[in-house]
Amino acid sequence: MPLGGFGEIGKNMTLLEYGNDLIAIDCGMMFPDETMLGIDYVIPDATYLRKNRAKFRGIVITHGHEDHIGAIPHIVPELSVPVYASPLAKALIETRLGEYKGTQHVKINAYQPNDEIRLGVFKIRFFRVNHSIPDSFGIIIDTPEGVVVHTGDFKIDLTSPDGLFFDLAKLKEVGRHQPLLLLSESTNSDTPGHTISEKAIGESFNELFAKANGRIIIASFASRIDRMQHALNAAVKFGRRVTISGRSMLQYFEAASKLGYIKYPREILVPLKEISKIPDAKLVVLSTGSQGQQGSSLARMAFREHSQVKIKPGDTVALSSSPIPGNERSISSIINNLCREGAEVIHNRNMQIHTTGHAYQEELKTILQLVKPRFFIPIHGEYHMRVSHKKLALGVGVPEADIFLLENGDIMEFHAGKARKLKDTIPAGIVMVDGLGVGDVGEIVLRDRQAMAKEGMFVIIATIERKSGKLVNSPDLISRGFVYMREQEELVNRTRMEVKQIIGRHSGKAPEDWSNIRQQIREEIGNFLYRETQRRPLIIPVIIEV
Ligand SMILES: [Zn+2]
Repeated sequence: MPLGGFGEIGKNMTLLEYGNDLIAIDCGMMFPDETMLGIDYVIPDATYLRKNRAKFRGIVITHGHEDHIGAIPHIVPELSVPVYASPLAKALIETRLGEYKGTQHVKINAYQPNDEIRLGVFKIRFFRVNHSIPDSFGIIIDTPEGVVVHTGDFKIDLTSPDGLFFDLAKLKEVGRHQPLLLLSESTNSDTPGHTISEKAIGESFNELFAKANGRIIIASFASRIDRMQHALNAAVKFGRRVTISGRSMLQYFEAASKLGYIKYPREILVPLKEISKIPDAKLVVLSTGSQGQQGSSLARMAFREHSQVKIKPGDTVALSSSPIPGNERSISSIINNLCREGAEVIHNRNMQIHTTGHAYQEELKTILQLVKPRFFIPIHGEYHMRVSHKKLALGVGVPEADIFLLENGDIMEFHAGKARKLKDTIPAGIVMVDGLGVGDVGEIVLRDRQAMAKEGMFVIIATIERKSGKLVNSPDLISRGFVYMREQEELVNRTRMEVKQIIGRHSGKAPEDWSNIRQQIREEIGNFLYRETQRRPLIIPVIIEV
C-alpha cells in the first residue's frame, strides 16, 4: 500500500501488511508545489497507521534524505513505533527530532548491512546501494507469500569514490529464487544509458582547483557529503583551507564526520568568522543554496547580504548540482548576480561538476534482470516516469499483466502467487505543515491564500448598533493588493452604498448572530466587485456591535 511517492517526487512511504503485522518503508516529506502558498512542506496521511496502531511493528528507512525521513518528527512520536535506519540516516533523523518538542521518547535503531531484523512475520535484510548520500540501502523483506525487494533510491556506481559498492551479489542471490515482487525507483527512467560515476566529479574538482587563482566557493545540496569530500580532498592537494557556510550543511557535515563518512585533516577547517585571515588563493567556501533558495548562503552572497563573504572579481563559484524543475529561474538570477559581482561561475553546463544519484535506464534494467521478480511495481516518480520504467520492464521480458502502476492509497493483494489490485483504497491524501501547525492548514485556508495572492483582499468593517441593527456610520473599506483605493474613489463609494443596502435590509431587528449578514456581504459584494473589475479578491466582512 503506497502512502506516498506514487504520483510525485517525495513523501515516500510504502506499507506492507500481513495478518496481524504492518510495517512501513520510509516516512518522507515533500516540498509543496507552487499552488500551496506559504506551506513549508507536505507529509503523508497517517490515518491508516493510527487506526492500525496495534499491529504496526515499525518503520524501516532506506536512507537519510528528507523525502524518506522528513515526516518522522510528525508521525512517529504519536504512534511510538520503532524506527530502523542506517547509522548516518539515524544521526540525521535524531538531528531533525531534536528540533521538535515531545520527541525524546522516539527510539531510532541503527542497522548494519548484514543485520536481519524481525518485525512480526516480516524478516528484513539490507543491500547496499549507491546514491547521492552515503549509507543508502535497498531492503529485502521475507514474507509468508514470498520475497519483496525494495530498492530505495539508487544508482550503480562501480567506481564509487567512497569505496562502498552496490551489493549486486546479494541481490543476485535473492534473484535466484524468483522474488515475489520488485519495487524499484523511477526518477530517471526516461534517461537512456548509465549514470556518470561520482569519481568523475572528483576529477573535475581537481581541474577546477588547479585553474582558480582566487577564492573558490562551491555550492551544493546540504546533504551532498560526497561533494564535501571532493572539495576537502582537492583542498588538501592544493593547500587550501575550508570553511562551511549554511546551517543545514554544517549539520550534515558534523553528522557525517562524526561517523567517519568524511575524512580530512582537522587543521584544514577554518571557522567562517576567521576567513578574513586567510589569503584568497588559500580558501574554499562550501555553501548551501545551489537550488537558488531564498535566504540561503549562496543567495546572500550573490545579493551582497552575506556578512562574511562578499563576492569580488577573482572568485570562482561552482554550482555542483542540477536544477530541480521549477527552480531554474531563481538559480539563473543568482548566477546573473554572481557574474555582475565579477565572479567566474562554473555550473553543470560548462563543466562536469555534478552527477545524479538516481539510476538511468541501463541500471534500472540491470536490477530487473538481477532480481527477476514475479511481479513488478515501479515506485518513486510521477506517472510518466513510472510508465517509462514499465516499458523498460517489458523490454527485459516482464509480462505486461505482471506490472502494476499504482496511485497513492491503492491496495495490492498478493496471495498464493497471484496479485490483484483491490477496489478499496486507504486514505492517502496530503497533510500540510506550516510553521508549527501540522494539518491545520486545509483546503479552505489554502484557497484563501490563493485568492489573496491572485486577486488581493478587501476588508469591510461595519459598525452596527445592537438595538436597532442600524449602521452607526459609513462602513470602512480596506484594500490590499486589490485596487489602489485613492484612485478608485467611485468604486469605493459605490461599494459602500452596496454594503449599506445589504445591512439596511436587516435593520429594525437585531439578529442574534451576524454570520448570515456577513455571508450576504461576502457574496453580494464579491459579485458586485467581480462585475465592476473582473477580479475576485478575498472579502473579509467585519461587523462590530455597539
Ligand atoms: Zn534519495
